Amino acid sequence: MIDLEKILIIGGVAAGATAAAKARRLSEDSEITIIEGGPDISFANCGLPYYIGGDIKNRSKLILQSPESFYDQYRVNVYVNTMATKIDRGNKVVETVNTVTGEKKTFEYTKLILAQGGKPIAPPIPGAEQPHVFQLWTLNDMDKIHSFIENQKPKTAVVVGGGFIGLEMTEALVKRGLKVSVVEMMPHVMSILEGEIAGFIQRELLAYGVNLYTNKGVTEIGKGKVKLNDNSEIKGDLVLLSIGVRPTLNLAKEAGLAIGESGGLLVDSTLKTSDDNIYAAGDMVEIEHRVLGKEVRIPLAGPANRQGRIAAENALGKKHHYKGSIGTSIVKVFDGVAGITGLSLKGARAAGFNADAVVVHKEHHTSYYPGAQQVTVLIVYDKETGVVLGGQTAGYKGADRRLDVLATAVANKLTVYDLADVDFAYSPPLGTANDAMNMAAYVAENRISGYSPAMTVSELDEYLDGKYPLWIDVRDEFSFNKNHVIGAVNIPLELLIGEISKMPKDRLILVYDDTGKKGHQALRILVGKGFTKVLNVSGGMESISRYAMAVTPKNFKVKLEAIEAKTLENEEVKKDKDEKKTQEEVPNIQKEGDEPLIIDVRTREEFQNGAYPSAVNIPLDQLPQMINKLGSKDRKIILYCATGARSGYALNFLRAHGFTNVENAGGLSKMMARKRKFFGF
Ligand SMILES: Cc1cc2nc3c(=O)[nH]c(=O)nc-3n(C[C@H](O)[C@H](O)[C@H](O)COP(=O)(O)OP(=O)(O)OC[C@H]3O[C@@H](n4cnc5c(N)ncnc54)[C@H](O)[C@@H]3O)c2cc1C
Repeated sequence: MIDLEKILIIGGVAAGATAAAKARRLSEDSEITIIEGGPDISFANCGLPYYIGGDIKNRSKLILQSPESFYDQYRVNVYVNTMATKIDRGNKVVETVNTVTGEKKTFEYTKLILAQGGKPIAPPIPGAEQPHVFQLWTLNDMDKIHSFIENQKPKTAVVVGGGFIGLEMTEALVKRGLKVSVVEMMPHVMSILEGEIAGFIQRELLAYGVNLYTNKGVTEIGKGKVKLNDNSEIKGDLVLLSIGVRPTLNLAKEAGLAIGESGGLLVDSTLKTSDDNIYAAGDMVEIEHRVLGKEVRIPLAGPANRQGRIAAENALGKKHHYKGSIGTSIVKVFDGVAGITGLSLKGARAAGFNADAVVVHKEHHTSYYPGAQQVTVLIVYDKETGVVLGGQTAGYKGADRRLDVLATAVANKLTVYDLADVDFAYSPPLGTANDAMNMAAYVAENRISGYSPAMTVSELDEYLDGKYPLWIDVRDEFSFNKNHVIGAVNIPLELLIGEISKMPKDRLILVYDDTGKKGHQALRILVGKGFTKVLNVSGGMESISRYAMAVTPKNFKVKLEAIEAKTLENEEVKKDKDEKKTQEEVPNIQKEGDEPLIIDVRTREEFQNGAYPSAVNIPLDQLPQMINKLGSKDRKIILYCATGARSGYALNFLRAHGFTNVENAGGLSKMMARKRKFFGF
């Protein structure tokens, strides 16, 4: 039986509007009223950056309800421009003032729901009060930024704070043609992410020409420029301050409601405040972190909406317990996506968990289906139980899907063993039979059991303090030449066995490849040959380079590859153009002579990344069209590819067509090792 109540809600956006709608669905006859201090209710604040950037063309799309439509749909009385100024708990009334007319009015309640949210932190930086300095929280803020860009035509912008709103706005401002600089106090943007994940986002920002100033703060804002704490100056015709949000608590404090330890409004699991007749939800409250078991503030839209529902239910007499939040959040910056759920490795260890982490980078769908892109999965787990404590993902496609799986695992205390056994959706355009999530779980299992000892790059950077390991890069020499750990020895995996006798058994050996997969193979070879001090770098060179981009490593140095510039032209269109161009190129086959014809049967893209000197590229699929151009049937032909598999097919094909002097040299690294033979070194 639902009680009949006079429900009064202060704040009419995410938590407040949801609470009102839920209350009406539960109780036909209760009186429900929303008081909103601003001019709009139920607007899409998460969508504000996308209107500024031009992705959302119509401003009206951001307004989800008006007071009239809300009344028509839910019979909820909505008072906009109506600021609550006092809660009189004794008499159960709220005093308000109309911010336009100045009219004062009181509202009675039997149950009050506070959904006042928070406000962006306004840092006391000299110059912050100028008209070219903005914050973004409301439609009004958005309109001001929009019209400043339209009317003042700024050329440069400084975004202060590299959190998700700062980065979404960075993309928006780049899309409006501004040259943007991001200033971040912490070592990297999105400081809640591990370096291996944040580095992916930083690379994306740099590729689009954004300037990054990390480990730096703003000390003064001038006209057209901003001064940093190292006394340097950067250009900024427009400045956006985006350094976090503080809960709006003045009313609650003045009314004597209890404030919690993390600084949010204290509520119990039914979202009841220290007053039996007042509930609260959204950015203003502190709630239990489901993994930490501690009260925290998680100012995000998902929790605010769910809390709004529960506060309404309980205000109407139900007993619905809010389970707490795991803080799942995600950001898209240009084409890149990265997110986090639960605890980071550092956070888990700081909270006393016996935690470890692993990272994998794997294609988001089968590599043979066009458009495959790498997706990264990082899992933080308890070493004893395997329970998933947190996770992070990054990638262009499929990072959101994996993050949601991790969130489900964290919320339900699943283990890495559970994740290893899940059947994830698979068909070639949509996934792989061994999903990145399964793979990350296997890698965690292998680390837990000691079968494949590994460390993430951030862990290694701490662990290596005072140690002098031997780094072995097991990639081919072309990959090695592009980027590597300085001082690493390049021994491609295929050649490792041959070099083992020269390697020291008493020294710590760190093996790495591109993504961690071949590093694991190398580790197993070494362990099999009696090496005991070997570690595989989780996530391989991809993780190492991202980490080095995000954080200056303390205990090793990295040669990084130059970042390829990107433009706002659609990535798919660019790729199609590149593919078409390479398909049109006809390989130039050398004339017959003393030297053998060396054919690289990999794809054009693989060939362009590095190939045997003097090799011609005839991708396996194009061999039939080229067969008549290869010369006499007894000509010496050497074939190779990445691993020897495709060149094996090519060998059979050429033999079937009468070529008698053909050899499969195997993979690229084996081929490179023969160089001396051919050139007589
Ligand atoms: C630009 C931007 C992008 C975002 N993107 C994301 C995202 O992608 N994902 C995500 O999870 N979250 C995002 N968020 C955060 C998300 O919007 C908030 O977590 C969510 O809106 C919180 O809901 P809330 O109801 O607690 O507070 P709010 O939505 O802030 O609503 C509180 C309302 O209370 C009103 N109010 C306050 N005091 C009074 C008073 N005394 N009297 C009357 N009214 C009062 C305020 O005017 C305000 O309208 C974003 C926020 C912004 C600003």
